[in-house]
Amino acid sequence: MNDNAYYGRYGGAFIPEILRATIKDLERIFDAARSDDTFWPEFSGLMSSYSCRPTPLTFAGNLTGHFSGARIYIKREDLNHTGAHKINNVMGQGLLTRRMGKNRVIAETGAGQHGVATATMAAKFGLDCTIYMSKTDVLRQRPNVFWMERLGARVIPVTSGSRTLKDAINEAMRDWSAHMDTTHYVLGTACGPHPFPAMVTYFQSIIGEEVRTQILKSENQLPSRIYACVGGGSNAMGIFSAFLADDSVELVGVEAGGKGLETGQHAARLCADGARAGVAQGYKTYFLQDADGQMKKTHSIAAGLDYVGVSPILSHLHDTRRVRFTAATDDDVIAAMELAMQKEGIIPALESAHAFALAFKEAPALSGDEIIVINQSGRGDKDIFTIADAFDDPKWKSFIIDHAAQYHA
Ligand SMILES: *Cc1c(COP(=O)(O)O)cnc(C)c1O
Repeated sequence: MNDNAYYGRYGGAFIPEILRATIKDLERIFDAARSDDTFWPEFSGLMSSYSCRPTPLTFAGNLTGHFSGARIYIKREDLNHTGAHKINNVMGQGLLTRRMGKNRVIAETGAGQHGVATATMAAKFGLDCTIYMSKTDVLRQRPNVFWMERLGARVIPVTSGSRTLKDAINEAMRDWSAHMDTTHYVLGTACGPHPFPAMVTYFQSIIGEEVRTQILKSENQLPSRIYACVGGGSNAMGIFSAFLADDSVELVGVEAGGKGLETGQHAARLCADGARAGVAQGYKTYFLQDADGQMKKTHSIAAGLDYVGVSPILSHLHDTRRVRFTAATDDDVIAAMELAMQKEGIIPALESAHAFALAFKEAPALSGDEIIVINQSGRGDKDIFTIADAFDDPKWKSFIIDHAAQYHA
């Protein structure tokens, strides 16, 4: 296997023999695109005409005043088309699909956000689209299934195994192996076999590139800290990658602390005690696993952070201590969301609110000359029932129960 497939001890491409040629082809097309001077302008032009890029970097004056510490800026990935950073990666892979001459894309999705983004891209590029989703998630995420179908995608409920995201990934892999001549597998985060972690990071790096330009323009200095939530790691790699060489910029990755690290009900693969590396789903990284190497059940209030693996690039940045990893609990996240809404009038996604929670905890101890940037990976509209439920306001109880029952029926 080639050396650039590894980040320290992590990464690689542990794939069935049958997919080796397809993965090689993808790697070749990606490398060619990356070294073609016209490709990045084509990608960023598409993102500005289709998805509001560059997204704003908003100065959070009220929050800054509230904490009397660092000056707080928020990178607004929530203002992308489809409501999150996921579209950056998906549109990029759409361009590569076209370069490969393929006419069909497949993807797996858990909460449905990546499925909606992929179906959107497929409609825009005129590609046939199939989305694999566990039966459990199909039932839990009715609105997203509705939109995927309206956008022209076929949604296949996966009933095998434990009916979770992992089983949907297996089904997608099976489909890819059977149709690799026509089909590209659009992976949704900076995980999986090489070249996916590098490729997803490359497309998401548009976030950090913009932040760098924007903060130098408005403040003429680099931030001292950048906060991002970490599910698979794509929004974090996207904003961190432009600052990896700047030692003065501390990079903070916030994992899902769930009900508290001590309860075991969380999705903190890197910062919890006993974090261990392993090989699964085509790559080597830290997985949330027990002493026997069995994958553990994850828990998070944010569906997008509820995943057992993490980007191999982040695993390496963890070991080399370039990124500090920490966690925010479900309760911290709800409190941070409330503050962000009431002080700034913005509604972060539950995932993004993990980054807000840590930034809010640490901002007061920093000086007013320092700048911090929070990556708001997405918008919170999708989380209405979870959030309403968490606030536990009797006035809204019947609304939540009635509507959630319809959605989740
Ligand atoms: C999917 C998602 C995430 C988690 O994915 P990463 O690859 O870790 O970025 C975070 N925020 C939002 C809004 C998402 O939709």
